[in-house]
Amino acid sequence: MHLRELAWDGFRNLEVRRLALSPGFNVFEGENAQGKTNVLEAAWWLATLRPLRAARLTELVRFGAKTAQVEAQIERDALVHKLAVRVVEGARQSLREGKLAKPADYFGALAVVVFTPDDAGLVRAAPAERRRYLDRAIFTGRPGHLQTTATHKRALEARNELLRTGAASDVVEAFEWTLAGHAAALVAARRRFIEDFAPQVAETFSEIAGEGVTARVVYRPSVDSDAPEAHRAALEDDRARDRERGHTQRGPQADDLGIEVQGRSGRLYASQGQQRALVLALKIAEIRLLEALFALTPVLLLDDVSSELDPRRNERLFALLHGYRGQVLITTTDAAVLRVPRAARLFRVRAGQVDAEGEVAERTGA
Ligand code: ATP
Ligand code: MG
Repeated sequence: MHLRELAWDGFRNLEVRRLALSPGFNVFEGENAQGKTNVLEAAWWLATLRPLRAARLTELVRFGAKTAQVEAQIERDALVHKLAVRVVEGARQSLREGKLAKPADYFGALAVVVFTPDDAGLVRAAPAERRRYLDRAIFTGRPGHLQTTATHKRALEARNELLRTGAASDVVEAFEWTLAGHAAALVAARRRFIEDFAPQVAETFSEIAGEGVTARVVYRPSVDSDAPEAHRAALEDDRARDRERGHTQRGPQADDLGIEVQGRSGRLYASQGQQRALVLALKIAEIRLLEALFALTPVLLLDDVSSELDPRRNERLFALLHGYRGQVLITTTDAAVLRVPRAARLFRVRAGQVDAEGEVAERTGA
């Protein structure tokens, strides 16, 4: 799977462009604040319909412009798909094969995994951020997971609303059956993913950090069951207290993804370097899992990774990338110091202008 062509119009600071990308490595080189991350964000937005950094859609629209659009041709199993996403009057529209498509019909053509400097915070972040990461990682391989999380969220909000408006207990109780079903399905999906994911993370981390340094990811469900009955019982037990507080305390909305190094909580004890290595291991493990389970080679978006890692970990990262068969889009302030595993297409990014500049020569040795 790879992006053959990536185009944008009115997106962030980027000047209108249609780029022909290499199915292998693509390097975007430029100084600070020129638009490198914006290029990756364009690809990310297209693949996930979520902005990478923006809190609001309007932030994606070029200052002074009315609409923003990103589109791409994706080659997958010898078929070409067309995806486009745009912001029109503050609202998002997604198109597949030129026709407006709801998310359920839109996803499935393009899978991406991103690694940005912001990700380093994941280990120490609040549980909500790790839950988001977990659900997004599941979604990359199984786009239907979006539905699982969305239906749970809607049901949860509905129960909270019933509690806050003082609905009678039999009304709340009847509704709890519905919520419990969605909660159990979400826990089951997260559990199933972690079963496959955890061994990949452990193995990848020791490759990056060195023999004998161990890491573990552990799913910590707030209601530890994928049986609807267990969730229903928890809701019933909590009902009076939940009513007082005005929201539902236990359930998948309170789960966490524990990340441990050397048997201890990474959140409490991981050093900065360890946090980065952990997040890198998570991302590489995601890719390996997608390859193993779905024979999927996602497009890899690497934002300024080298500046975040020490030389030894950098070397390991590029050694791993060396063997990667998929497409990679990578940004850097200096292509000369990147250890690009094979001839890459080079693009210069200058004040929002992205121009093809030929190839970066292969650099393998030290
Ligand atoms: P760095 O190396 O510092 O990470 P970068 O090349 O990745 O820099 P980007 O984050 O891609 O930089 O782009 C930043 C530039 O884009 C900033 O100058 C910012 O003001 C500009 N920018 C962001 N959003 C918009 C927008 N909606 N319209 C116009 N310009 C924008
Ligand atoms: Mg950047």
